[in-house]
Amino acid sequence: MSALLQLGSSLSPSPSPLFFNGTNSKLSIIKFYPSFPNKPTLFRNHYISPNLNNPRFLKSTITCSADAPQGSEVGLREKSVSVILLAGGKGKRMGASMPKQYLPLLGQPIALYSFYTFSKMPQVKEIVVVCDPSYQDIFEDAKENIHVDLKFALPGKERQDSVYSGLEAIDSNSELVCIHDSARPLVLAGDVAKVLNDGWHIGAAVLGVPAKATIKEANSESFVVKTLDRKTLWEMQTPQVIKPDLLKKGFELVNREGLEVTDDVSIVEHMKHPVYITEGSYTNIKVTTPDDLLLAERILNTAA
Ligand code: C5P
Repeated sequence: MSALLQLGSSLSPSPSPLFFNGTNSKLSIIKFYPSFPNKPTLFRNHYISPNLNNPRFLKSTITCSADAPQGSEVGLREKSVSVILLAGGKGKRMGASMPKQYLPLLGQPIALYSFYTFSKMPQVKEIVVVCDPSYQDIFEDAKENIHVDLKFALPGKERQDSVYSGLEAIDSNSELVCIHDSARPLVLAGDVAKVLNDGWHIGAAVLGVPAKATIKEANSESFVVKTLDRKTLWEMQTPQVIKPDLLKKGFELVNREGLEVTDDVSIVEHMKHPVYITEGSYTNIKVTTPDDLLLAERILNTAA
């Protein structure tokens, strides 16, 4: 016998149902979140702004029972995420004979670190590696160690062109696309799980860390224009997680209006859709110069 109780929820617009579906020892809580808010909506103690004409409701289930795994993520189904692993850059700043993402880090190509991290996550269905065909064998050789689908896409001229190429290759049933720079080998699975969860609820989320440095705006002659308020500044990382339809619509808008795009979520910002910053870890560095490679080795050795 199951009992169905209706409660109010601060997360959903009015009417705001939250159902308890109790059965013997197990209690399932079914929450309804707006996939896009149509009025200011509370998310993690923040209000996210309205921006949508057509509110849809998503259903998520929290299972509360003695045997429920601790810390399990809410809502996102297993095998519902497509990862686009960007490995199509040339990485000239490293000054090496091959692109930086294939340089060995403690004996393993940099790009394989995050490749393995994503491949072990239950939420991930497939990894689309965007790379030059001459480097595909690095991932093909690792295929027998992983339990997710592996696809390839050709890189474009700019990073965004590579993202678009990867987006065209993803499974049409994917609920989220998770875009990651393969030059960030040290991303933690726990941080990825957090940003996936936030992306699923909000529509777009990105890992970031609070800025440590004082950042000033300067004019073209290098004179300070103003000092920015550090408390409001975040350094962006990857993964950047976006619902596929939102990203596709964002690309259409950016291409139609010739807008400038600096990262993946800025495509979504152009659509005036909220983007949540999920606090990540300072160790999720991008390996760009030889110094970064030494730092990455140290971080790995410390963690071991
Ligand atoms: O050059 P940058 O460090 O910003 O590149 C970030 C990531 O995007 C890297 O993993 C790089 O391989 C990838 N990239 C790409 N296609 C491009 C340029 C960069 O896949 N055209």
